[in-house]
Amino acid sequence: MEHGGAPPARWRGPGRLLASGGQASRERAISYCPTCGTDAGDAAFCPACGARQPGADQAAIEAETIEYASWGSRAAALLLDGLVLAGAGLVLGFAIALAFGVNLLGPLSLALPAVYFTYCHGRPQGQTIGKHVLGITVRDIQGRRPIGYPRAFGRYLVLIPISFVIIIGPMIDYLWPVWDRRSQCLHDKAVRSGVFRA
Ligand SMILES: [Zn+2]
Repeated sequence: MEHGGAPPARWRGPGRLLASGGQASRERAISYCPTCGTDAGDAAFCPACGARQPGADQAAIEAETIEYASWGSRAAALLLDGLVLAGAGLVLGFAIALAFGVNLLGPLSLALPAVYFTYCHGRPQGQTIGKHVLGITVRDIQGRRPIGYPRAFGRYLVLIPISFVIIIGPMIDYLWPVWDRRSQCLHDKAVRSGVFRA
């Protein structure tokens, strides 16, 4: 399954990962996908079925991975989702207080974000309202598949211990993509997810 390797990937700052090298001058290798038999050539992922090719090296895999979301777009999406959740929580909390005379604002502020982020990140689109507006999405580390509900829940759960470190914990978590090679937050790393341009 040796076929010369793919052009090396070059890191160009947060949010951009571009392939480089002499694509035009190099001969195209023939390599059949072990999953479906299609000629996948130099591709790290089969163009027909999307399976990762056994000969593919890490650089090729990353070069073909969909572009990472910028830190700014992630931060803006989070801000939007915070507003949506705060608004929904307040409306729901006051409605319950008026109807049943009980104050559930505390429990709601814990449960709503957990349900919201688990559902939104776990569904096939991988998008919250904020991420939809910003055109970004949560996928697995290769940027190809949705992470599903259990991993989306895990991704949310790891925020709890991080949040125990007052101010500095969440700050480090959310700033991590700025210097991370894969533009991941710590809570992305925990479930091997990433945020990509949709
Ligand atoms: Zn295939």
